[in-house]
Amino acid sequence: MKAIAVKPGLPNTVHLAELPAPKVSDIANGRGVLVRVLRVGVDGTDKEINAADYGQAPEGYDFLVIGHEGFGQVEAVGPSVTEVKPGDYVVATVRRPGSSIYDLIGTNDMTTDDTYFERGINLRHGYMSQYYVDDAEFIVKIPQGLKEVGVLLEPTTVVEKGIAQAYEIQRRLLRLKGLQVVTFGKTPKPYLNSDLIEAIGGTYLSTDELSILDGAKKYGPFDIIFEATGFSPVVFDSMQALGKNGVLVLSSVTGGDRKIEVPADKINLEFVLGNKVMVGTVNANREYFEMGVKDLAQAEAEYPGWLSRLLTHPVKGLENYQELFAKLTNPNGAIKVFCEVAELA
Ligand code: BGC
Ligand code: ZN
Repeated sequence: MKAIAVKPGLPNTVHLAELPAPKVSDIANGRGVLVRVLRVGVDGTDKEINAADYGQAPEGYDFLVIGHEGFGQVEAVGPSVTEVKPGDYVVATVRRPGSSIYDLIGTNDMTTDDTYFERGINLRHGYMSQYYVDDAEFIVKIPQGLKEVGVLLEPTTVVEKGIAQAYEIQRRLLRLKGLQVVTFGKTPKPYLNSDLIEAIGGTYLSTDELSILDGAKKYGPFDIIFEATGFSPVVFDSMQALGKNGVLVLSSVTGGDRKIEVPADKINLEFVLGNKVMVGTVNANREYFEMGVKDLAQAEAEYPGWLSRLLTHPVKGLENYQELFAKLTNPNGAIKVFCEVAELA
């Protein structure tokens, strides 16, 4: 079968690889689920992997099949699988257990191991291929009605986890849900992203027009800030834009070694006197995938068609991997770039 792969450690090596097709029996105890891949999204992590800033090949290989935002249809299942059946739409989680206690209780996203295994990212092949097989434990069923937007589930789970962590921390305060949402982006409005934010009642601000600190003066103080820009200096601005008793969630994976100067005394003082919390978050275990499915369904019910508007840049066929990466690295108006590996039934 065909797959899109890179040679980790060497920049710009994305290529079409040929691999033997996986079989249900590759997985122990009759728990295999063979999935025919329909769509795979790409993101900043894939960009970093192809730039050789990130990612490692599985043992015994000099290439890594990329793709961690998969969506597909079950082709066959092992005799001990009851959770899904052929024809079901599914998404697989990304991280696989290591050996820490957290890995052994289904929370491998909280591993304390130094080495972590992530499909399509680190030491395990990903989903950017015609088929993949995995243990039913890592396969999450997607309702038929969400097939059009199922490829958005994995990136959703990363946000689900971050928000869940923030609420977990905020159990120290009795706050009700129902948030007023302000988003910061670089590009001045109007454009698709700001239109989408405003369509669901959020406020969009461009940092070219209003700094994060001024934005916080005008629209804040913010109780929760979710940082996901990929640009680490924004973290220190966000620390200062955070309100008293607030939680700052950091999710950007920044592989570089950028250095900046910050007002350390001021930031520290405000954190202490304001009981503020900053928390890092990575990956998402099954629980967050299930939460993500619920929230995608609610979003689809409340704002029909809104999620599909995020799917801006489809690329047909694994063989068009160059076009896929061209769109990813030069994202002209792109929100989600993804590969249509096969037609949705
Ligand atoms: C993926 C996560 C992963 C993280 C770090 C993200 O792009 O969505 O699943 O844990 O990269 O490798
Ligand atoms: Zn990702």
